[in-house]
Amino acid sequence: MDVIDLRSDTVSHPTPKMREAMANAVVGDDVYGDDPTVNQLEADAAEMLGMEAAMFVTSGTQGNLCALLAHCQRGEEIIIGDKSHIFRYEQGGMAQLGGIIPHTVPVQADGTLRLEDIGDAIRTENEHYPITRLVALENTHNMAGGVPISVDYINSVAELVHAYDLILHIDGARIFNASTAYSIDIADMLQNVDSVTFCLSKGLCAPAGSILAGSADFIRRARRARKALGGSMRQAGILAAAGLVALHDMSKRLNEDHENAQLLAEGLSEIPDIMVKSQHTNFVFLTIKETAKVSPDELIQRLRDEHNILMSGYQSKNNHVRLVTHYWINREAVEKVISAINTVLS
Ligand SMILES: *Cc1c(COP(=O)(O)O)cnc(C)c1O
Repeated sequence: MDVIDLRSDTVSHPTPKMREAMANAVVGDDVYGDDPTVNQLEADAAEMLGMEAAMFVTSGTQGNLCALLAHCQRGEEIIIGDKSHIFRYEQGGMAQLGGIIPHTVPVQADGTLRLEDIGDAIRTENEHYPITRLVALENTHNMAGGVPISVDYINSVAELVHAYDLILHIDGARIFNASTAYSIDIADMLQNVDSVTFCLSKGLCAPAGSILAGSADFIRRARRARKALGGSMRQAGILAAAGLVALHDMSKRLNEDHENAQLLAEGLSEIPDIMVKSQHTNFVFLTIKETAKVSPDELIQRLRDEHNILMSGYQSKNNHVRLVTHYWINREAVEKVISAINTVLS
């Protein structure tokens, strides 16, 4: 029996079209700039995002770190959400390797940072202070439950940030989920943004790789950072070939994942012992009520052992259970999951 894996969209694997493209990819040594498939991916991504240039990196973490190393000097500060992936889950790479200081402000329930908090965090000229260089947003916001942030909000932050001559970076690991949720062209969403990273893996199904995009001068500096981080690859066209399918095909079908997440939330909300805490884009968060005859841990274990269904538990956060939809979760799988959870809980 096939496993239905809803732990994350990171578990998605390459589509048949990707595997075929990978097998047939024309490659060269990308460190010489000779890999035509990598070059095409970078050119296509830049064009699609409305940026001057783009660079293929090994992961989202590497893309964000290259961006911060290229934008900031040692002793400079960035303003960033306290629940952001860059601050929480990237090991403080900016500080370890770049001497860059994270100045956190609270992430609101809708994934945004209050303009007032950003304004208060911007340093004035004073020799006691580090120099503020950059503001980073996250879209969709992972810890806020996959919530997409709007172009109007992004533009209002950009206006503030640019009024102080600062840089606006977006960690857009799932930015195509955001542009899909708002039915907006990705380049329009990023019109006033200086740099962005997004993952070709996750919902876009590539086996590895992310894109960092921005001005040509910025990408030149980011390439130096990537080299120092050990991220220059040789015949990376094998991976970029899957990335091209991710960029051109998979970015256009994410509404299916969002619809499936919505169906999942609707179906599960009818089960008495479940409270659907939130559903945004492809993320569904549940709380299992105290009255349920199994604990969240038991529910997760029994779904795994008896139904081949995998989900993530977050006991520290009021017994939350997380389900994430992706290309390999179709409507039939959604129905199986609802009925299996019903069986275990009734
Ligand atoms: C996944 C993710 C990243 C990058 O993670 P990698 O595992 O390094 O690719 C960055 N930001 C957010 C919000 C993410 O969800």
